Formats: sequence, C-alpha cells, structure tokens
Amino acid sequence: MKNLQLVDLKTQYEKIENEVNTAVLNVLKSTAFINGPEVKSFQTEFESYLNVKHVIPVANGTDALQISLMALGLKPGDEVISPSFTYIATAEVIGLLNLTPVFVDVDKETFCMDPDSLKAAISPKTKAIVPVHLYGHCAPMEEIMEIANEHGIAVIEDTAQGIGSNYKGKDGVSKKAGTIGTVGTTSFFPSKNLGCYGDGGAIMTNDDDLAAMIRMVSNHGQSKRYYHDVIGVNSRLDSIQAAILRIKLKHLDTYLSDRNKAASFYNNEFSERPELTVPKTANYSDHGFHQYTLILNGVDRNDLMNHLDKKGIPSNIYYPLPVHEQKSFEGKFEERVSLENTDYLKLKVISLPMHTELDDEQLEFITSSVIEFLDQ
Ligand SMILES: *Cc1c(COP(=O)(O)O)cnc(C)c1O
Repeated sequence: MKNLQLVDLKTQYEKIENEVNTAVLNVLKSTAFINGPEVKSFQTEFESYLNVKHVIPVANGTDALQISLMALGLKPGDEVISPSFTYIATAEVIGLLNLTPVFVDVDKETFCMDPDSLKAAISPKTKAIVPVHLYGHCAPMEEIMEIANEHGIAVIEDTAQGIGSNYKGKDGVSKKAGTIGTVGTTSFFPSKNLGCYGDGGAIMTNDDDLAAMIRMVSNHGQSKRYYHDVIGVNSRLDSIQAAILRIKLKHLDTYLSDRNKAASFYNNEFSERPELTVPKTANYSDHGFHQYTLILNGVDRNDLMNHLDKKGIPSNIYYPLPVHEQKSFEGKFEERVSLENTDYLKLKVISLPMHTELDDEQLEFITSSVIEFLDQ
C-alpha cells in the first residue's frame, strides 16, 4: 500500500508532470515572469469556469481577503462579522486593518455560518460579513445575502476551501461558491482544491467598479503608471503559478469528484456508527471535501489519533483553537453572540486523509482502523 498522507501532492503531480514541466519551462524561456500572458489567460479561463465577470489574481488567499476589505473602503472601527470556527487568515486581515471583528457561531452540521447567529450580531457599525465555505461546503448564501441586503452590508465569501463547489439556489439556478456575494476570495496554496506549486490567490466579483478598485489596490493603488490614487499593496500571481493553474483548472472537476468518491467510501463505512457523525451535505450545496471531517460522539479524540498514528494514518484537527480564543485576538473583538457550537466542535472534530489520490486499499485500511478502535 502507498504511504498514507493527509494530502498527496506528489502522486497528483506525477499524473500531469509532462504537461506542467513544459508549461513551466515555457515561462522560463519567455522571461515574462510578472503579469505575463499566462496570468491573463488563467484569469480569463477562471472567469469562464466560475461564470463571473472579473477575476483578479493576487499573491495568496490572505491578501485576497485583505485587498477586498481595503477596496470596499472599510475604516477603523467598522465591524466585520466572520465565524470564529475558521482558519486564522479569515479574521487576521480584519484585525490587521484595525477593523473590529465580531464572531458568530456556525451550524453544528455543516460547520458554516449560522444565519440566526449572524442576525443577532449585526449592529449599525457592521460594514461587512465574511462567510467561509468551510471544508468545501457552501455557507447558506441566500439567507446570508438576504440579511446583508436588508442592512446594506457587503459580503466577502472566503472560498479558499470551497473553490468549484456549487451553491444551488431556491430558483434552481446553481452558482459557483465565491460568485454570489459582493466579492469572493480564494487561495491556490498547494493543498487547496485548486492548488498551485507555491503561493497564489484570486478575487472574484461581478461588480465592474469594485473590480477596478480591487485591481488598483492590489497594484500599489496605481491608476496609471506612477500615479497612485489610494494606498495599496503589491500582490500578484506570478506567471509560473498561472501556467500551472491553467493546467490544474482543467482537472478541477475531476479532482472534486475524486474527493467526493473518497468521502462516499468513508460515509458508507461510518454512517451507521453512533460514535461518528459523518459530514452533512445540505440540499443547497454540493461538497468540495477540502477536508473530510467527522464529529466524535463519546470517543476520546486523542486516543483515536494515537491509534491511527501508530498505524501510519495521519489525522488532524481543523481547528483546535477558534479565533476568539487565540492569544492574538485577546481583547480585540466584540463578544456579542453565543459561540456554543464553535466551542463544542473544536473538541469533537477530527479530519482524516483527504485528497485526489486515495485508492480503495488505503481507504479500506483507514476505515477499518477507525472501526477497530471503536470496537476495542
Ligand atoms: C488557506 C486559507 C486562507 C488563506 O490562504 P493563503 O493562500 O494561505 O493565504 C484563508 N481562508 C481560509 C478559510 C483558508 O483555508
């Protein structure tokens, strides 16, 4: 059996090695390292994949969030609502820009923002909401947009874990995660569902004026060469990463279906066990399975992780400490609503290996090892 890893980038690379190597060499030969034609081509192809008017490639997913907040013109003291049960980057940029984070709870089954908690957290100072499509499952965007529109609040979808997932609207129309809010952001960190071989990220929007402002902010606030209208940053996707992403984008739907196949295998083995709650896919969403995350009921998580580790099966906790409990956020956020699901989930979740290269032999070994632990 192949060695088990949380993410197997090597096997995935080997399947597209020739194509990728040629594309990278072509960029080297062209020396168009920054803002080259590969970046523009990737942008256009990604716009058409997502069915969105504007994609603005940037240097990473954290920058994508920061630039979005800057382009929306938020000012210190403005409140930004995000879940606490997320990766630090979602909230970090709020703190970095001296905006006031307000954390809301997540749904106990989908791990995504709870609209009732959101409603309760809104104040006259709320200027933006950042739902996260956690683990690849869409946040309940229609409910979130309804609440946001009622109050005239911008919505930034953190799609770093959910790129390619479809949100199925009540009207029967499906939209890609990241294209429903005012703006969407994503990351091409290597382990993400669409990952490059370094750092990368992108911002998506259907709003022409906002897209122009995002382009300006991400390029030193420059309106034309050497004329800088706003304070900006330097955040670019480089041509080598764009060339790799053009190849990987063609495989994204296959990658997502491979992840779903692995998740179905896990679900089949686990769904009858009362000790395990398998990840739910709500009827309004499909699932990108960036992570396959179980909720443990009355199972000692440490013991289970040790048992798996001894068998060479890696597992992980996303995330053991929610943002509102991080030292860096002490005294720096508004406590407004109960975060009881967040506090519960941080103690109960466990994520198993999830990537595009898991085969049946590996999945059989992982699932039987988990069940062996439960039965002992
Ligand atoms: C990975 C991730 C980010 C940050 O992306 P980087 O490219 O690493 O900066 C932001 N939000 C979430 C939810 C993520 O998982």
